[in-house]
Amino acid sequence: HNDERIPLKGYTEIREIAEDFNGIMDKANETDQSRAEFVSNVSHELKTPITSIKVLAESLNTQENVPIEVYQEFMQDIVTEIDRESKIIEDLLTLVRMDKTTATLNITSVNMNELLEMTLKRLKPIAQKKNIELLFESFRPVVAQIDEVKMTQVISNLVENAIKYNVDDGWVHVSLNADYQYFYIRVEDSGIGIPEESQNKIFERFYRVDKARSRETGGTGLGLAIVRNIILLHHGTIKVHSEENIGTTFTMRVPLNYVEVQ
Ligand code: ADP
Repeated sequence: HNDERIPLKGYTEIREIAEDFNGIMDKANETDQSRAEFVSNVSHELKTPITSIKVLAESLNTQENVPIEVYQEFMQDIVTEIDRESKIIEDLLTLVRMDKTTATLNITSVNMNELLEMTLKRLKPIAQKKNIELLFESFRPVVAQIDEVKMTQVISNLVENAIKYNVDDGWVHVSLNADYQYFYIRVEDSGIGIPEESQNKIFERFYRVDKARSRETGGTGLGLAIVRNIILLHHGTIKVHSEENIGTTFTMRVPLNYVEVQ
């Protein structure tokens, strides 16, 4: 029944294929300038926690008879900065590994309903801290050929963002659907939204709408760049729709059957 999967070359399909192609070409056309900019961003991001650690350690070192409470507070700040540094390095390594080749995907048949339920269960405690309602709705059972670890990271990143950039007592709705060719996951939140002029930049490495807010919540600015890369490796697409102070919806579309492209 393979012929069932050959897409109809209708207007929408052709437009979608053109959009996918543009996305891939954007990536291929990365200029030396953007690479240089990336390296400069990396240096800056890596230096920020180190600078804080240095200041904290030096101020403890140059004071005499530091009270134990002050000492402990500074030490806790140092640990927080080290955690931040580790997260940046970890996210950077994830990105660099994915840039090399698609061969890094470990494709198996995965029950998407179970994957989503398990991932959301793990994130529930974070949602509860802000009294956010985390709902999952599935329109049908879906089994897809994907890299389970990487797809779990995509969902985690999107839902963690939906919680982070949300208001207290808000909600996050995740839904799963499929047709004969693709599965669709939608992550919708009642959060702060993304200004229109930023919506096409959020998938760039290190781009944040509000640096302070991202930093406070332990963000690296790499989460959505990782999401986009993983989805592109699966030959899928991701779109964002957002309104400030109302909420944001991310919709991804990924083929059910993975086909390796030579
Ligand atoms: P970060 O580590 O800063 O969260 P991401 O790459 O995950 O980095 O996201 C980039 C930026 O996009 C965030 O800093 C935030 O400004 C914006 N953003 C992402 N998801 C949402 C969302 N659900 N609602 C509002 N803004 C978001």
